[in-house]
Amino acid sequence: MGYTPHVMVLGGGVTGTAIARDLAIRGLDVTLVERGRLTDGATGRMQGLLYSGARYADTSQPVAAKCYDENRTLAEIADHCVEETGGLLVPTDADEATVESIVEACEDCDIPAEALTGEEARSMEPALDEGVEGAVRVPDATVDPFRLTVATAKSATEFGAEIRTHTEVTDIHVEDGAVTAVTVERDPEPTGRPHPEDSEGATADSTSPDGDDPDTVPDGGKQVPGASGGPGAVPPGETDMPGMPGTTGEERPSRPTAGTERLEPDYVVNATGAWADEVAGLAGFSFPMHRSRGAMVITEDQPVGMPVSLGATPGPVRTVVPHGQHAVVGATNDPVADPDDLDGDGDDADRLLADLTGVVPALDDSRLLRTFWGVRSGPPRGDGEGRRFALVDHADRDGCWGMTTVVGGTLTIHRLVAERVADHVCGTFGISRECKTDELPLPGSEDQEVLDAVMDTFGLSSPVYDRTRERLGSRTPEVLDTDGPNPVLCEAESVTRAEVRDALDDATGGAVDLNDVRIRTSATMGACQGGRCAHRIAAELHPEYELGVIEDALDDLLAERWKGQRHALWGDQLAQAARNYDFHASTLGRKYRFEVAEREDSDGIALDGFDDGPVTGGADQPVGWGMRR
Ligand SMILES: Cc1cc2nc3c(=O)[nH]c(=O)nc-3n(C[C@H](O)[C@H](O)[C@H](O)COP(=O)(O)OP(=O)(O)OC[C@H]3O[C@@H](n4cnc5c(N)ncnc54)[C@H](O)[C@@H]3O)c2cc1C
Repeated sequence: MGYTPHVMVLGGGVTGTAIARDLAIRGLDVTLVERGRLTDGATGRMQGLLYSGARYADTSQPVAAKCYDENRTLAEIADHCVEETGGLLVPTDADEATVESIVEACEDCDIPAEALTGEEARSMEPALDEGVEGAVRVPDATVDPFRLTVATAKSATEFGAEIRTHTEVTDIHVEDGAVTAVTVERDPEPTGRPHPEDSEGATADSTSPDGDDPDTVPDGGKQVPGASGGPGAVPPGETDMPGMPGTTGEERPSRPTAGTERLEPDYVVNATGAWADEVAGLAGFSFPMHRSRGAMVITEDQPVGMPVSLGATPGPVRTVVPHGQHAVVGATNDPVADPDDLDGDGDDADRLLADLTGVVPALDDSRLLRTFWGVRSGPPRGDGEGRRFALVDHADRDGCWGMTTVVGGTLTIHRLVAERVADHVCGTFGISRECKTDELPLPGSEDQEVLDAVMDTFGLSSPVYDRTRERLGSRTPEVLDTDGPNPVLCEAESVTRAEVRDALDDATGGAVDLNDVRIRTSATMGACQGGRCAHRIAAELHPEYELGVIEDALDDLLAERWKGQRHALWGDQLAQAARNYDFHASTLGRKYRFEVAEREDSDGIALDGFDDGPVTGGADQPVGWGMRR
């Protein structure tokens, strides 16, 4: 009788989803649990630069060479998530590296790089300042971390993995020197999707057997949790608001209940990023980790056509990375102890812009949409050791069988990290199946030729179609093939109803989680930050969901948008925020409550949520909004 180990992957960032995909492709039973939605950690809070490795070529050649290999592999298998822009490295006076030394080091690692004079660099990227005397052209690219992670998760499910979001690991049980079980708690505001334990006959606090395939359950072995039900099998809704639109009808789903469940996998992979030590601590293990917080700013316009990086490691690196119609400017690098310490200093945006406007002066006129922070993590590091990753088998380190923790790396090398972890897990079970993730394209990147052939089929004006296609790749025809009308719901990002409905229906996401729709489609990420389109996205939940559920989902979406805006409120963006408030307070008939935490006791804007903005005048000038420019 065959035996298929059941592996539980903890963490739904790019690393966890890639591990789940790799293991599922190799035929293992996989359950991934993520406490929030996919990309809730560093993956959703990064700059989206697909490193060429050139910036490490001087200091860490093996890392640089791997980086370039992975850059090429991702461009191949995740074509619709990657834009091959090329990039420029501009060394500063403070750098040890020079244009010549970077090019030489790149040659040693087989990374194509070209030394440019200032004039040559400006002909390639006209936004560069006249004062730039030289730069290195490198094969950097841009990558959409949301699209990449979602496509990876989707692929994992296609190979049989189960992805459970809004499911937090709260305990890891160890008995007789082995990990025996994992306790998870489902969020009370989770996915809106049915869960195995919601199905008839299942009970909480139990492992759900999947009796369908006897080959997957060894004699006397642990049982594999059942697969989650698909969209449509939603629990009946509440009907406690008679007479309100969208509130009648017993078939309408409400939020499923929270619940605790004990799973008994054969093996656990801890891929919880900056929280890896906390999660390992649940099993009684401890190990040191390095963490640093990075601030980033999103501009409304796109001041550069390709990533421009200022500085080369070692030392601070600042980069402007174009994404869609915007750019992400980043990142600071400040050590932090707490992975949830995301509220950086009020002057982070100013520090970033002060460094970069000397090289890209147009940034000085850019309207800033939002500031956000992410936490990098990895093993403790010495100079030049950044971007390292470590795979810690707790059998070797702590004498406890059944769990491996992985920390560090970058998004660029996540597939390689996942391959190493999957090799290790398979090796543990004596399984010798080759990794296929370097050659199997992700959903959306399979049939570019077919896609080209159907360009004009869907009656969308070309720019909208092009943007949709950039996001969905070869899935575009399948998603846009709807019976009803397909209006554009978010003009700034060209997102149509069909794409929103596709995101809502995707089993790897949250059925009533509009932030999940946001990360899948980019809707509400434009200049209005949801002001003009969030309610239209929310309206797509009608009539399937009751009004209260829809309002809560809209609140969550706008609150999430608000978090980043409040740190960039001056000039045009302050005016935009005020317009959004007026619009929602008047035409939607409600005073919008920006802080979810204050939902119960506040009906106004939480004014203490604002940053004051930088002081631009003398010492006696009051600090206030809108003073930046
Ligand atoms: C500011 C910044 C800029 C960056 N820029 C780049 C870049 O341009 N290019 C690049 O290649 N890399 C970049 N990186 C690095 C890259 O973002 C990370 O290496 C990568 O996203 C890490 O992914 P991960 O899956 O390992 O971790 P994460 O994305 O953090 O995923 C861990 C997940 O575990 C979940 N979790 C935590 N605790 C629990 C629990 N108890 N139960 C269940 N789930 C749990 C979290 O919610 C989270 O979703 C940047 C990082 C930062 C911070």
